[in-house]
Amino acid sequence: MVDTLWGKVREALQAKIAGKDYETWIAPLHAVAWESDRLTVATHSPLARDWIRQNLVDAVLAALRRVAGDGATFHVVVQGTAPGRPARTVPMGPVPQARETLPLGLRRYTFGTFVVGSSNAVALQSARQVVEDRNSRFNPLFLYGGVGLGKTHLLAAIAQGLVASKRSTVRYLTAESFVNELIVAIRRERTEAFRRRFRGVGTLIVDDVQFLAGKRRSQEEFSHTFNALHELGNQIVLASDREPDALPGMEVALRNRLSSGLMVEIEAPDGDLRAALVERKLAARHLTVEEGVVDLLREQWWENVRELEGLITRIEAFAISGAGPITRILVADALGRCARKPPQRATFDRVVHEVCQQFSVTREELLSRRRTARIALPRHVAMYLCRHHTDRPLAAIGAALGGRDHSTVVHGVSAIERRLGSDDDLRASLRQLQRRIKG
Ligand code: ADP
Ligand code: MG
Repeated sequence: MVDTLWGKVREALQAKIAGKDYETWIAPLHAVAWESDRLTVATHSPLARDWIRQNLVDAVLAALRRVAGDGATFHVVVQGTAPGRPARTVPMGPVPQARETLPLGLRRYTFGTFVVGSSNAVALQSARQVVEDRNSRFNPLFLYGGVGLGKTHLLAAIAQGLVASKRSTVRYLTAESFVNELIVAIRRERTEAFRRRFRGVGTLIVDDVQFLAGKRRSQEEFSHTFNALHELGNQIVLASDREPDALPGMEVALRNRLSSGLMVEIEAPDGDLRAALVERKLAARHLTVEEGVVDLLREQWWENVRELEGLITRIEAFAISGAGPITRILVADALGRCARKPPQRATFDRVVHEVCQQFSVTREELLSRRRTARIALPRHVAMYLCRHHTDRPLAAIGAALGGRDHSTVVHGVSAIERRLGSDDDLRASLRQLQRRIKG
């Protein structure tokens, strides 16, 4: 398994990197393990290991992910020194049916690896219910929320849970695959067979339903499938990046069907869940860290779990095996080189809205001329954020925030800058605000 996988990755790499680099660095490597979606390859030379980490990680990761799915990670060790990581492949366990239906990369998504917090507890609970309760009252179960927040993870966990319980036949696919299969069926005039195939499924799980938006013929066929299964009392589980009512270009009838069961939103993780995610994701990769690193990572700029995993992959690539726990300096170094998103501009209204929420003041108060101490701090924060994250000229910011002039804004902004040096709470709340005003 691992050799086949590595063979494919090498093939993909050969097409992408210079022949000399390939011969020098990639060809001599050999694969030692493919475990929890992580490929470990070995070299005899520490020099080669470091060179690969510094120069080829991105290329290898990209090739690996093309072959094995988005969640795959890559690790290079000097042979014989992989700390505590045995050089062996681990059989994946008998999940024959899930194997056919679930893409390779989704098999590590189980309930056991899902980290729960207040923003996703209901979603997790409902997903479990689908597996445990044959006559689920949630039909369809419709999960929605922003990208990278665990929708696909939960769908895959349901699929595997059902397969393990042998209670129901299950099929997982994305709406995109549904559409592609439909197109092929139409072309070959096999739509009857297409319908039969779906209608025999005990639990149908369709991911990324938003893909159906604007595709009338596909929506029609999907509605037929949906109705047929629903009438039989078969379970349907769906995920989408937004709720049915917010999906553009969706037939009204289908939209109503999609919202006829239980709809659950997964929200962005709060501070506690962020910390828990950092800890679990580090542990999953057997990374030990020095004190303070968890906090550092929790506070980093990541808006969803996929981004956090990306950061950790970076750090992992920098870490030197067997050199003790990962230090804050290493993390800062690794993150410093990581390409940040281009900063987005926020709007004045968004800043006002978020500042009001954060400090529990009303919009009227914030924009008023009142000078009470309770409002002074939020107003200065709003000035600071507008100054740094919007394109409004200072005079306009001042005029909108309490009818002040340009020099009041300069004063407000520098008051915040001074305080940031010593006030941890303010720093934390500014960081949160900065995250939210760009969302
Ligand atoms: P979505 O489908 O909502 O875009 P995914 O399910 O693909 O997001 O999640 C992105 C990555 O983040 C996956 O690797 C997934 O395992 C991980 N992830 C998301 N939420 C959690 C969670 N609560 N616990 C553990 N991992 C999570
Ligand atoms: Mg997804």
